[in-house]
Amino acid sequence: MASESPEVFNWQLDRPMRYPYEVRPPKRQVAWVFDINKCIACQTCTLACKTTWTSGKGQEYMWWNNVESKPWGFYPLGWDVRLMEKMGAAKWRGGRYVGKTIFEAAPPGERVLGLLPEEADWAHPNVGEDEIAGGSVEIGDHLAGIHRVWMFYLQRICNHCTYPACVGACPRQSVYKRPEDGIVLIDQIRCRGYQECVNGCPYKKSMYHPPSRKSQKCISCYPAVGQGAQTQCVVNCIGKIRLFGFINPPDKAREDNPIDYLVHVAKIAMPLYPQFGTQPNVYYVPPIHVPPQFLGQMFGPGVSEAVRAYRAAPDNPRLKGLLVLFGSTDRIFTRFEVKNDQAVGYDDSGNEVARVPITEPIYERPFFDKDNNVYRHSIP
Ligand code: SF4
Ligand code: SF4
Repeated sequence: MASESPEVFNWQLDRPMRYPYEVRPPKRQVAWVFDINKCIACQTCTLACKTTWTSGKGQEYMWWNNVESKPWGFYPLGWDVRLMEKMGAAKWRGGRYVGKTIFEAAPPGERVLGLLPEEADWAHPNVGEDEIAGGSVEIGDHLAGIHRVWMFYLQRICNHCTYPACVGACPRQSVYKRPEDGIVLIDQIRCRGYQECVNGCPYKKSMYHPPSRKSQKCISCYPAVGQGAQTQCVVNCIGKIRLFGFINPPDKAREDNPIDYLVHVAKIAMPLYPQFGTQPNVYYVPPIHVPPQFLGQMFGPGVSEAVRAYRAAPDNPRLKGLLVLFGSTDRIFTRFEVKNDQAVGYDDSGNEVARVPITEPIYERPFFDKDNNVYRHSIP
């Protein structure tokens, strides 16, 4: 990835943008949808990732997956606030971004507006955990209806961006985007630990590992994905908030592709900080109880409409059906349909890999059990 590049079209910004690296679009692009509203911050995803990939000695701070509390939690410390202080408030005109991306805001002689955290910034993954915004909780607040104070959990992995800031930044071309599925990887043999990818990634999801003197990052569980399985953080999610699949650009969106449907058709899932300009491929169903001004900075315009569409999901059988397919299988399903009150997922070969009833059947046992001559009071 070396030559000076032309402009690329970033559909999340609804405009062309300068991208200083060569672009080779992959055959397909991995993507995730995380429903923030359902997360309970149990960190099972974090541990599933850690025990699979970074359980070795010296990897205590390698949190490729982390779940932080917003607005006060960050990993590493202040990663988003510090970059946004450099960039200024995001400016949108309608759906079009009119501010500068991290590529366009690069200082003279540099390709990207970067940020290299200090070693200590990586040492506090729980900072800000469960801290609320909007003052303190007062007596009687629980009776006040709309919550005055708020916080929410933000689940974070590498976004396997369409225009990654990490890939071209590496002077040794150690970071690359797989042509078959767009997964971004760091070649551990080539890497010399210069940390240009860490500096460039606006999400700080490329991390330096001092014992090996290499940079490392989320690998999208590529051995599993290659065999048709969803990633570990998705499969192990207790809240069933996660879905893995493949996304198409808006002009090629397929209604029966689960990720396309959530992002392009129902429009309930939004990218995180699209103003950075990397076209990230993790999409979030925004939290419905958070002030819209905060959500607008974080997920861009259209966030209020996304909240409205999500609230109306009970009246939209197709959307409701797809939401119950989250966490229903470890297999990747690239097509779904909803019929006869059931949601069904199919893999690339057309095999059914998930079937879930939309309305859960209810079984009521008789109050009096003749066989045992007992009454069943509140017996589960
Ligand atoms: S496992 Fe799921 S519910 Fe638990 S913290 Fe992770 S994303 Fe949230
Ligand atoms: S999130 Fe960061 S590390 Fe991941 S692909 Fe994007 S720029 Fe690279």
